[in-house]
Amino acid sequence: MVAKSMEQLVSLCKRRGFIFQNSDIYGGLQGVYDYGPLGVELKNNLKAAWWRSMVYERDDIEGLDSAILTNQKVLHYSGHEDTFSDPMTDCRKCKGRFRADHIKDGKCPNCGSVDLTDPRPFNLMFKTNIGPVDDGANFGYLRPETAQAIFTQFKNVVDSTSRKLPFGIAQIGKSFRNEITPRNFIFRVREFEQAELEYFVAPGEDEKWHEIWKEERVKWWENQGLKRENINIYTTPKNDLAHYAKACYDIEYQFPHGMEELEGIANRTDYDLGNHTKAQDEMNLTSNCHKNPDSTQKLCISDDNNKWVIPFVIEPSMGVDRGVLAVMTEAYTEEDLGEGNSRIVLKLKKHLAPIKVAVIPLKKNNEQIMSKCKEIKNNLLKLGIGRVALENTGNIGKAYRRHDEVGTPLCITVDFETIEQYPESVTIRDRDTMKQTRVNVADLKDYLRNYFAE
Ligand code: ATP
Repeated sequence: MVAKSMEQLVSLCKRRGFIFQNSDIYGGLQGVYDYGPLGVELKNNLKAAWWRSMVYERDDIEGLDSAILTNQKVLHYSGHEDTFSDPMTDCRKCKGRFRADHIKDGKCPNCGSVDLTDPRPFNLMFKTNIGPVDDGANFGYLRPETAQAIFTQFKNVVDSTSRKLPFGIAQIGKSFRNEITPRNFIFRVREFEQAELEYFVAPGEDEKWHEIWKEERVKWWENQGLKRENINIYTTPKNDLAHYAKACYDIEYQFPHGMEELEGIANRTDYDLGNHTKAQDEMNLTSNCHKNPDSTQKLCISDDNNKWVIPFVIEPSMGVDRGVLAVMTEAYTEEDLGEGNSRIVLKLKKHLAPIKVAVIPLKKNNEQIMSKCKEIKNNLLKLGIGRVALENTGNIGKAYRRHDEVGTPLCITVDFETIEQYPESVTIRDRDTMKQTRVNVADLKDYLRNYFAE
């Protein structure tokens, strides 16, 4: 069952410490959110799953972690300075600013006035002064996508890894866009994280690889728990394509507010490497490049016939925050337990769960039970499965309810039987079935190793 409303998710996120409004005590900063104690775990787990599938499980992809601050020239030659903008209309009455395509019947969406300016381009990049002198000449940008550094570091990566086509460079990191109307919680924000792969292929092979990556990425999302019936693949019409793209698929997800883009998979052709390369005339480019007198490098690679070519690139680009929202939406379940009882349970895949195991004492502040709990926790940590949380609440029912809500797959309860009988044993409660199993403490590590290896 998909979450009924965004309000339910927002409320759970705040109540249980997943996501908070940034600068909350000062009234918030619009379109900016902070990840709380459990949100940071969930987000890290999603990023780790992506990195693992891209960089560790394959042998044709390298990683990169580049800076957020970006030289103005990079974003000039990438085309973002000129074209990364939305046409905006201002309302002269209420002073509101709106995307021109959001104006209906020529009326201000805020106050209804028809006294509107003509649409004007509004650049979405955050410009910032770099260096001690703020004279307007020394500026750069916060990157609006992580991809550009992959292109500008292309030659360094190829030279240091001796890669041949096809191969990819993967990167996860923050991006910034001055969205006009941030909305729908963490769906459209001004500071967000992207996980981007630039997969370089021989010219002419691009359409084949575009199809391959579309299939791969849908499979990956299914492995994160999204049901296929909640995913849609949208082919962007030619007139809606980004300035760098020849074709683009959007992987859309049924968010609480509607079916919307979760990940874009673009065929960026040789546009970016072409724009950032020197001596473009010699490179037989297919895209329309800016003339580039500033670049010092030819961003090319030698192909199978020892000819220097500028590769084409396929880019699966996922929004990490939208990913967090999607997996939470899918996992959020309200279950009727009968007799007027119900529970909220976050049925996250175990590799995504913020807390893997909670160790809970049956009785609060009982020294013997607590010390056994600590011993068990420390032992389980050695498995490297992620966060193992130790409780000292003494209220088992409440602890189970809380861990159901945050998606903890297993709760281990240490009771008097554990410490008084031989062999020592504990109960393990399964989040989804609520079934309890008695397991000997000596077998716990193997039990959990098998459980989390599945
Ligand atoms: P949209 O059409 O929703 O504005 P986009 O097509 O501009 O998105 P891309 O440039 O393709 O987005 O960026 C790749 C991914 O980065 C998107 O699929 C999305 O998941 C994420 N993303 C882009 N903009 C935002 C944002 N403002 N807030 C959160 N995630 C974003």
